[in-house]
Amino acid sequence: MRLSALGEFGLIQAIQKLSPRTAPGVVIGIGDDTAGLTVSPNTLLLATTDMLIEHVHFELSFTDFYSLGWKSAAVNVSDIAAMGGLPRFCLTSLGIPPYTSVEHITEFYRGFNALLARHKIALVGGDTCSSKRGLAISVTLLGEAQRKKALTRAGAKPGDKIFVTNTLGDSAAGLELLQHKGQGSECRGQGVKKLIERHLRPVPRVAWGRAIALSGCASAMIDVSDGISSDLAHICEQSKAGAVIYSTAIPLSKALRQSQTMLKKPLLDYALSGGEDYELLFTAPPAKIKKLLALKIPLIEIGEMTRSRKLVLVDEKGRSKQLKPTGYNHFSGSRA
Ligand code: ADP
Ligand code: MG
Repeated sequence: MRLSALGEFGLIQAIQKLSPRTAPGVVIGIGDDTAGLTVSPNTLLLATTDMLIEHVHFELSFTDFYSLGWKSAAVNVSDIAAMGGLPRFCLTSLGIPPYTSVEHITEFYRGFNALLARHKIALVGGDTCSSKRGLAISVTLLGEAQRKKALTRAGAKPGDKIFVTNTLGDSAAGLELLQHKGQGSECRGQGVKKLIERHLRPVPRVAWGRAIALSGCASAMIDVSDGISSDLAHICEQSKAGAVIYSTAIPLSKALRQSQTMLKKPLLDYALSGGEDYELLFTAPPAKIKKLLALKIPLIEIGEMTRSRKLVLVDEKGRSKQLKPTGYNHFSGSRA
């Protein structure tokens, strides 16, 4: 069905129908001038927003609308996870080109709501506009965290160990394979599907982030959205410290290794500067490691914080080199 047949208000009603009506904390939901929400006492209200723009963040030639909805929610939920918080309420604003079908928007909300449902997050509002060209999605997410337990990027100390919660680089490799496929080349193999899945349907680590924060063991945390060369640099900057990481300790998945012959770059590049992994990257003092291990969360130690204010990579031969942040930079138009 064409959007024009439904109109703005018809579409909002359709979105409303797709979304759960009641949820804890929602006093006023979709349909009024604002939502009215309550959060638990003595908590910090966490607020985050992310935009996804067609041709900048995603291509509809190889992204289905369900995955797009899922990912639009997941990238925001991951930011709340990185604070050790609990995601609660969500608002979505869409700029929709007139040639988009109602079914596509419905699929978008199915994917979006599936991710929200996993975390019991309520969709409480948004805005719907037409766009002359290209789909624009803006998601705002509110969450909460215990005031004294929220984890920021500041707080890492020299000597703290650096951990990640899973393998890195799959998403960036998945994106490259999708782009190849778009150009008609053959990308097959057991690993390929997994890499593509990690790109299109990332899984935010909310439970792990909360457990890490509530344990009181970690000193700083961030989610890996731009690649660890950039994200660890943020921790270093905010914590006024440096870091050394070991290339042999960076976890690479079996799927990534299996797909090596189809990929253009050395595997480590995907992990260091690929991004969109949405795993957690955090630091903890050595004395807390035993307690951390007891949380039974996948923890992979990749290096330690230093005094130097530099980010250093030690290669498999023991040689050190300074690592420059190489994540995506919007206004340089490409990777730094
Ligand atoms: P207003 O003109 O007061 O901003 P709107 O007509 O834009 O109201 O929106 C009506 C209701 O529908 C509001 O509760 C708004 O938050 C909600 N809403 C609008 N667009 C969306 C959307 N894309 N997703 C979720 N809720 C939406
Ligand atoms: Mg409005």
